[in-house]
Amino acid sequence: MSKLIQGQTGEWEVVIGLEAHAQIVSDAKLFSGAATSFGAEPNTQVSTVDAAFPGMLPVINRHCVEQAVKTGLGLKARINLVSVFDRKNYFYADLPAGYQISQYKSPIVGKGELMLSMADGEMRRIGITRLHLEQDAGKSLHDRHPALTYVDLNRAGVGLMEIVSEPDLRSAEEAGAYLRKLRSILRYLGTCDGNMEEGSLRCDCNVSVRRPGAELGTRTEIKNVNSVRFVMQAIDYEARRQVAILEDGGSVIQETRLFDPHRSETRPMRTKENDYDYRYFPDPDLLPLELDAAWVESVRRSLPELPDAKKARFVSELGLTPYDADVLVAEKSHADYFETVAKGRNARLAAHWVSVELVGALNEIGAGIDTSPISPAALGQLLDLIEDRTISGRIAKDVFAVMLETGQGAVALVEERGLRQVTDNDAIASAIDAVFAAHADKVAEYRSGKDKLYGFFVGQVMKAMGGKANPGLLNELLKNKLTR
Ligand code: ADP
Ligand code: MG
Repeated sequence: MSKLIQGQTGEWEVVIGLEAHAQIVSDAKLFSGAATSFGAEPNTQVSTVDAAFPGMLPVINRHCVEQAVKTGLGLKARINLVSVFDRKNYFYADLPAGYQISQYKSPIVGKGELMLSMADGEMRRIGITRLHLEQDAGKSLHDRHPALTYVDLNRAGVGLMEIVSEPDLRSAEEAGAYLRKLRSILRYLGTCDGNMEEGSLRCDCNVSVRRPGAELGTRTEIKNVNSVRFVMQAIDYEARRQVAILEDGGSVIQETRLFDPHRSETRPMRTKENDYDYRYFPDPDLLPLELDAAWVESVRRSLPELPDAKKARFVSELGLTPYDADVLVAEKSHADYFETVAKGRNARLAAHWVSVELVGALNEIGAGIDTSPISPAALGQLLDLIEDRTISGRIAKDVFAVMLETGQGAVALVEERGLRQVTDNDAIASAIDAVFAAHADKVAEYRSGKDKLYGFFVGQVMKAMGGKANPGLLNELLKNKLTR
């Protein structure tokens, strides 16, 4: 599938760079000890620093710094041993200090990369420009009073990592894949919970279009998009809007826009000309942040295995296909569950049962893998019964469905319901004879050349045996008897 947009006057290429704002997993804020839990009563998690009382001084939270370094290392990025906090000045009701503390010219993390596995099996490298630390602002509540706006400062001062990509993305699908991969890496690292519904991960989308191979076009920036689906919809809409303008002989204005999820369209918010001048300057209340190289190395050594490495190991050591491995590693909980099941077992069979049967069934009952009624050990027992041919794959699906509903173990279920597969030649042979006797006409038709009837016989014998005949044996015996 071509990534290019087909316009009236030829093809256009979409260019996208994303700025993701990831809320740091931390019990306390970036410069104060106030709590950060989601959904607390308004203004119950606000210290005098967050409310910008005169004379209060910010103190950097060491844990947040470590989280940013971890994330940088996870993105294979350069860690800057010296970085600087600046004041980004603007007025807004939810920003009591009149400035946001953010890193501007000297971020804590420099260039890195993120690898995307595309649907066609290709890998794409997306450059990371930088990651910097900053504080979140408060929140205006417009729905508490008909005439007044209330301000909730619980979020004010919460630590964010702004992760900026190079303009390397070339379609809405790639942008969606990038954001999902970034979220997966953040969750593996435990540095951001990636919960887009709660606003822990939000995204600004920079979009431009150009003729293939031409210079970069003028971009617009769509602010604060809060789901992967909306990111893709916003980019699609915006790219087509720009193509229409250019093909009409107009030019794109560099501006900030908002995405309206109800109409799936973007609308102007402000243009570059009346954009704020933030008058950045280094915050005099904070020293430059200096990191110890040996400490950075110790953080590097403590990193968990990340999705790319896990995928490579699942392929090379466990023999999974790259596709199956990709599906499993996207969520760490799925990968962990799979590994427990696969230990000492047929890994491909385990991969199928975890990512297709189990995840499919859990989706249907609205459960996650962490709350799965079937434990990895229980699923493992079911697979053992398939592998040692106690039951067929067909029967296994029925057993699985009952396990999911009742929480019963596979071994007990198979015994209790008499589901053991029949591997006794004589029993299968006599079932075949009985079917032949009842359908002598069909047997004659088959023997005179009507091959298609074969499936009919398989079905009848299986039915007669309650689905428990070993399929391989049944086929073998049936073929023998039919050709006699
Ligand atoms: P700002 O800080 O004003 O938002 P940056 O130069 O830091 O501007 O760019 C922000 C984002 O815009 C980055 O993700 C970058 O990749 C992206 N970007 C820059 N130029 C373009 C362009 N012509 N088309 C699409 N995205 C772009
Ligand atoms: Mg920007």
